[in-house]
Amino acid sequence: MVSSMSALLICGLVARTQAAMPSLLAWVSPSALGASIYLLIGFLFVVIVGGGVTLLIVSIVRGRRWEKTVAAEVERVRLAKLRPDGEPWPPFGRGMCEACARAFDKVYYLADGRRLCEKCYASIEMGADPGAPITSEQEPS
Ligand SMILES: [Zn+2]
Repeated sequence: MVSSMSALLICGLVARTQAAMPSLLAWVSPSALGASIYLLIGFLFVVIVGGGVTLLIVSIVRGRRWEKTVAAEVERVRLAKLRPDGEPWPPFGRGMCEACARAFDKVYYLADGRRLCEKCYASIEMGADPGAPITSEQEPS
């Protein structure tokens, strides 16, 4: 019942469209219709090409910016592995500092087997005793 009603509705719609087509064609001259179609095709061509060119330019600009960001990050990581004098830092990882007996995210693994936190390692670099009592500036905040 429903399908026959919808078929009847579609047939009515098609008949009404077919009835409207001749009057539409009479209203629009064939040359104007062709010009409109050419205008529409040209407009779509300009939109598609313009969009493509815009997309290309944006991609190039973002790609160059991304390359600069990657190069800066690579340089930052490279410099983080080097001491100010250009020598590499010892290998490091998480662990316990043997001098101050506390856990740190960054503990240097020295060649002689000791494991020292950054501040104890810096105190060794300055010639101080790494087992010295912790000063207030070494306290974790
Ligand atoms: Zn320490």
